[in-house]
Amino acid sequence: MILDQSLADPADRLTLALSKGRIFEETVPLLRAAGIEVTEDPETSRKLILETNDPQVRVIIIRASDVPTYVQYGAADIGVAGKDVLLEHGGEGLYQPIDLNIARCRMSVAVQNGFDYASAVRQGARLRVATKYLKTAREHFATKGVHVDLIKLYGSMELGPLVGLSDAIVDMVSTGSTLRANNLIEVEHIMEISARLVVNQAALKMKRARLQPILQAIEKAAAALA
Ligand code: ATP
Ligand code: MG
Repeated sequence: MILDQSLADPADRLTLALSKGRIFEETVPLLRAAGIEVTEDPETSRKLILETNDPQVRVIIIRASDVPTYVQYGAADIGVAGKDVLLEHGGEGLYQPIDLNIARCRMSVAVQNGFDYASAVRQGARLRVATKYLKTAREHFATKGVHVDLIKLYGSMELGPLVGLSDAIVDMVSTGSTLRANNLIEVEHIMEISARLVVNQAALKMKRARLQPILQAIEKAAAALA
């Protein structure tokens, strides 16, 4: 892996990578516990780099699935990403994530109400599964010995079974209301998901003095959510 140090900030300057929506909203209180106030709102601002109350700390707003990549290459020192996203990325160049206990949901298999998932699996027919999470889905079905054809999607997985694209989907579920609204039912629970704090490995060494108190404050605030 190429870690281009020219991308990295000076030792006292920090870049945090977040995605819009629930990750941003649920991370704000944890940052606040570490004394970091984000002074701009990504929902109304078009800026991709947001300032904070600390001139030495900035927040970049990127796609959820790009967070591990920015941190891996040192373009961000810290990032917040779902376990789902980290598993797909693989985690190279990232320091041991802290579980933030936010953006909690589960990764599940769902099918259209009425589809006999149990007997499809029992009969050993190849199951067509649409998902954004190819790696995790592949491992899950391989472990169970179920033969699947995986179809990569980038969103709205719920539609797959309704229009005959796939027999099943692997997706994130929290309340189940999106599944219900689309006549789908959860047939298997793959794993619990929550967002993790990831740190660039080189930054952890070179910016240790700056990072350590922030990581500790965030970890403490996150533990209180468990
Ligand atoms: P993008 O918008 O870039 O396609 P995304 O749709 O995965 O990404 P979000 O919907 O903001 O982005 O989800 C961010 C993270 O929140 C996910 O990676 C996952 O860890 C978690 N998440 C996804 N769905 C839910 C949910 N229903 N409830 C709670 N957390 C969720
Ligand atoms: Mg989304």
